[in-house]
Amino acid sequence: MNSENAKNKEVHNFIEQIILEDIRSHKNEGRVQTRFPPEPNGYLHIGHAKSIFLNFGVAEKFGGNCNLRFDDTNPEKEDVEYVDSIKEDIRWLGFDWGNREFYASDYFDQLFEFAVKLIQKGKAYVEELSSDEIAAAKGTPTKPGKESPYRSRPIEENLKLFKLMKEGEFEEGKKVLRAKIDMASPNMHMRDPVIYRIKKVPHHRTGNKWNIYPMYDFAHGQSDAIEQITHSLCTLEFESHRPLYNWLIEYLEIFPSRQIEFARLNLTYTVLSKRNLLELVKGGYVNGWDDPRMPTISGLRRRGYTPASIRNFADRIGVARRDGMIDVALLEFSVREDLNKTANRIMGILDPVKVVITNYPEEGEEWLDAINNPEDEAAGSRKMPFSREVYIERSDFMVDPPRKFFRLGPGREVRLKHAYIIACEDYNTDAATGEITEIYCTYDPDTKSGADITGKKVKGTLSWVSVRHALPVTVRLYDKLFHKEDPLALQKDDDFKNYVNPDSLKTIQSVVELSVQDAKPGERFQFLRQGYFCVDPDSSAGNLIFNRTATLRDTGSKKHG
Ligand code: ATP
Ligand code: MG
Repeated sequence: MNSENAKNKEVHNFIEQIILEDIRSHKNEGRVQTRFPPEPNGYLHIGHAKSIFLNFGVAEKFGGNCNLRFDDTNPEKEDVEYVDSIKEDIRWLGFDWGNREFYASDYFDQLFEFAVKLIQKGKAYVEELSSDEIAAAKGTPTKPGKESPYRSRPIEENLKLFKLMKEGEFEEGKKVLRAKIDMASPNMHMRDPVIYRIKKVPHHRTGNKWNIYPMYDFAHGQSDAIEQITHSLCTLEFESHRPLYNWLIEYLEIFPSRQIEFARLNLTYTVLSKRNLLELVKGGYVNGWDDPRMPTISGLRRRGYTPASIRNFADRIGVARRDGMIDVALLEFSVREDLNKTANRIMGILDPVKVVITNYPEEGEEWLDAINNPEDEAAGSRKMPFSREVYIERSDFMVDPPRKFFRLGPGREVRLKHAYIIACEDYNTDAATGEITEIYCTYDPDTKSGADITGKKVKGTLSWVSVRHALPVTVRLYDKLFHKEDPLALQKDDDFKNYVNPDSLKTIQSVVELSVQDAKPGERFQFLRQGYFCVDPDSSAGNLIFNRTATLRDTGSKKHG
């Protein structure tokens, strides 16, 4: 982007401000190139979404490009399943990386040459101490480390040994390559960091070609340089790695990407780290990476979140330089706000109880008009069958209701939405349990919605489903996966998995109106007065499963134990 075009850009955070200044000063000829660099060792989560919106967002805004680069330097933990899911999730969020799909593993030859160059400059050496010995000699932030006896090995010997490492001559752990920087540096990352290690493990892309693999810190920054990334945006924990990356840029004489750190997203009642999420999957605490309780993109999608709701959330939380904790209620607010505009309303009764309308003809049936979405005129309307017996929500009836209860009780009147006003005459209970089994009402035929000639006013309006036309469905109700606000704030020897909420999933049998019988997985609805629900991919014909995306209102965090 030229600085003329950049002039009238409004910036929304400190990163955009830095980029704008770089454009104005003609740095990199005004070019803006970012990247989103996941390690393919798990599924993406909502924290990654923040980084995706940021990286793709600023590239788009300033006329640049964003690469998708897999930082795949750890073959043991990586898998093509993860690569595929990452691509699917980014596409679903609405971004296209075109033909700019890259892999750090595609640069393994170049990275090897970089390492050779460091050795030739006397800036790297082959270490023979074990990893424990290396750790023991590292010192502490206040105490300098000890130099390795192998540190002053001649360049020629280092070159020979490094090549033998590559050829598979040595066992894992017997040798590593270390950068030769400063064992007394106050920055621990500068104390001769390991940059290559032996790993006789096949890689999901390079197969058996390599016996040695670069460390993340020797691959990430160099890959940025190879791709001529102008602005390398990463989370705060990499701030202390920046001197190392800059040291490597200097001695390798490679493209100087500018690293800028921002705060990672932390959410209350949630863990956001692939390592922890993998533990939940492996330990069977959830049903896979896309379990609707998971904060993964695929979990949120299955739960019923829309890309727009996640984008709005990301916009709302913004990009800051200091770590903080975001209330998970804000995420729920974002999906509610979006679905309120876009989800069609239907009648769904979670816990049904039968109402018999005693003055309605036995075989009678009429099809009433019901509008689909009061927030969206274009959504139109549908016909809903009404008959002598309807289900209402069990909690909408009380035998002895308080004065402020504007729903049904003996002697009280309510409107059935889109239908008639009914009056409660009587009810029946189960002799053993005391549970209400049937409620008896009469209706006033002159009060039909849209054609009410009585002018009668009632305070309550209930949702309902005709018994004869009801569609039985399974509904999964979700609560927070953790009952601890910060599951990772732990005492020694405690484990975040101890704070998994045992009641985070409740499966119930419910009824919904007939009109949704052909609904497809992923379709979203508002069950009137109940919340937002999304059809689960486990559904089959005649057996719909709904996931509750969110309740209609924030019900606050339930306190447990
Ligand atoms: P995790 O701890 O979940 O494994 P990670 O940083 O190791 O996260 P990567 O695959 O390396 O995962 O991340 C890809 C990009 O996403 C990185 O640039 C990283 O900074 C960013 N990212 C990861 N987690 C968050 C988060 N919680 N908030 C914002 N950005 C994040
Ligand atoms: Mg990482």
